[in-house]
Amino acid sequence: MRNSTISIACLFAVIWLGQAGAQQVTAARVTLYEGARLIVGDGNAPIENSAFLVENARFTRVGRRGEIQLPSGAARVDQSGKTVIPALVDGHSHIGYMKNLTSGAVNYTRENILDHMHRFAYFGVAASQSMGSDFGELPFQIRDDILAGKYPDAARFLTAGRGLAPLVEISPDNMRQAAFPVTTPEGARASVQELVPRKVSLIKTWVDDRGGTIKKLTPELYGAIIDEAHKNKLRVAVHATDLRDAKDLLRAGIDVFAHMISDTDEELVSLFKQHPTTAVLSALGGPHRAVYAPWLNPVHPLILETVLPEQIKRLQGRFPQRDPEQFKRSQEAWDRLARGISQLSAAGVKIGVGTDGGGQQGDQFIGWTMHAELENMVMAGLPPAKALVAATRTSAEILGLDDLGMVAAGKSADFVVLDANPLDDITNTRKISSVYLRGHRVDREKLRASFMARQ
Ligand SMILES: [Zn+2]
Repeated sequence: MRNSTISIACLFAVIWLGQAGAQQVTAARVTLYEGARLIVGDGNAPIENSAFLVENARFTRVGRRGEIQLPSGAARVDQSGKTVIPALVDGHSHIGYMKNLTSGAVNYTRENILDHMHRFAYFGVAASQSMGSDFGELPFQIRDDILAGKYPDAARFLTAGRGLAPLVEISPDNMRQAAFPVTTPEGARASVQELVPRKVSLIKTWVDDRGGTIKKLTPELYGAIIDEAHKNKLRVAVHATDLRDAKDLLRAGIDVFAHMISDTDEELVSLFKQHPTTAVLSALGGPHRAVYAPWLNPVHPLILETVLPEQIKRLQGRFPQRDPEQFKRSQEAWDRLARGISQLSAAGVKIGVGTDGGGQQGDQFIGWTMHAELENMVMAGLPPAKALVAATRTSAEILGLDDLGMVAAGKSADFVVLDANPLDDITNTRKISSVYLRGHRVDREKLRASFMARQ
């Protein structure tokens, strides 16, 4: 039965190639990858000495070497000594704003957005969710162009379009500059309705009094956003880190927390149990690097080859915290986050990875933040296998990407080939040998040259 499925698939591949023209026949559409340790993304033990077949940009069979015969006309790639993981998925980023030492709407161009999507791909990230800082037509055009195959070396761009923020949060020099201002429930509903036909991946909003300095969205207003989104089959992601706000938002039916909540308790855990589909994206990067960033000294080679020296220097200048009091507060904040995410994870809460990469808090290097975040999660107490599931299958599930997050038959052939095993040491995700998106081997050499040529 299996064999006949394979030969039918091959037949289709041959027909397809015939129609595409003779010059494409040399590019094998069917490839058998053999010999790697394969981490499929379900949290189970890896398949040692694996084999998997990729046909027309999808995995069609996954098993052990020897179980899958080489179809006629197919290419074979030996991956002995390597470890393969599903391509990573970043559930929270801000795309198009950062450019070397500057950050702002002025940088939000097609070229800069594509540069960011190429950076994600370079770092083994298959898709990234831009969290409410997009505006205009560009995000939708670029999203669709990438899906149509126009940029084979680019990661998928998911956009929430314009977020919904209270008026006091909106300023020309921050990333909420284009957000819909929320002042009334009717207005909030109208803004959600504007986003529906754009097929946004989710709705983004903010509930944060910024340390008591502003009036945050009231439950009446965010309740209207959530209700209108749900009526239109859209989910809502919220920036909210306060424990009481998190509880109120859970009761109001929120779908995704875009950041880890700053503290947790038993009541929060039980609210999550009552709302089992509600997910948390980690976003531990900002708080953790205030107390821990060894990858800046010495600077990790992946940073050196993608970020210009002046931007690296600026980030180094922020650390280590020179004020001991500030450092102590940062350490305490991190300890609470680490305890909390371990507690939620142990309770079975759905935890994905968001990095806040490209955010304006300064030099959150696009792509790199994913690898820092994996280490953060392990340092917070998650086993490496769980951190990897969070960064692949669960993030994909949270974003509604049914065809990403695992190396499994039927999924898009998006995977990362590593020179070392991340289950031994999570920082081995940085030892990238090659990246494949939609079955295509990303041209990382070409990308690297383009990153460093940008001023
Ligand atoms: Zn953010």
